[in-house]
Amino acid sequence: MALYEGPVQALIDELGRLPGIGPKSAQRIAFHLLRVDPVDARRLAQAIVDAKERVTWCRRCFNISEGELCAYCRDARRDARALCVVEEPRDIVAIERTGEFKGLYHVLQGAISPIEGIGPEQLRIKELLARIQDDDVDEVILATNPNIEGEATAMYLARLVKPLGIRVTRIASGLPVGGDLEYADEVTLGRALEGRRELDG
Ligand SMILES: [Zn+2]
Repeated sequence: MALYEGPVQALIDELGRLPGIGPKSAQRIAFHLLRVDPVDARRLAQAIVDAKERVTWCRRCFNISEGELCAYCRDARRDARALCVVEEPRDIVAIERTGEFKGLYHVLQGAISPIEGIGPEQLRIKELLARIQDDDVDEVILATNPNIEGEATAMYLARLVKPLGIRVTRIASGLPVGGDLEYADEVTLGRALEGRRELDG
């Protein structure tokens, strides 16, 4: 149902497809953009185009990256024996803020969620197992979110990784249950990392 003239409605429709933006917010942002200086609007459009053109997935850990390997995978000072498994690239930022972890990461790009139709094969699990077998990994830290999907994913991974003879740990509870890693403050998240416990296979 188009309420506005072509380009205005097209803008509202596109904005409305973004996560967390309802029809009302989409309308408000669209009218805001129509009012701003053309230079500012163009800068926003260009930032989207640049990000899409220049940013890809790290071929080792599936973090966002400007080249083949992301900044962490390129950094020889990081400890490749410890692998921290997270759901999204933004979780890496949350863990880096704690200053508690010096190893490498692996981004699953989601969590197992039957309701949303996301199974293990849609996640970067195959790649994780290949990495563990090829590289010299001593410990896999499961830092998926402290909610149902995150816990289910951690249990699933523990069952796969444990038989490979590798230490598998889960970040401690104490994080707000049902929440996202990225919303935890660095002190709480730092403690959760420090207090990680061994998982059984
Ligand atoms: Zn990487």
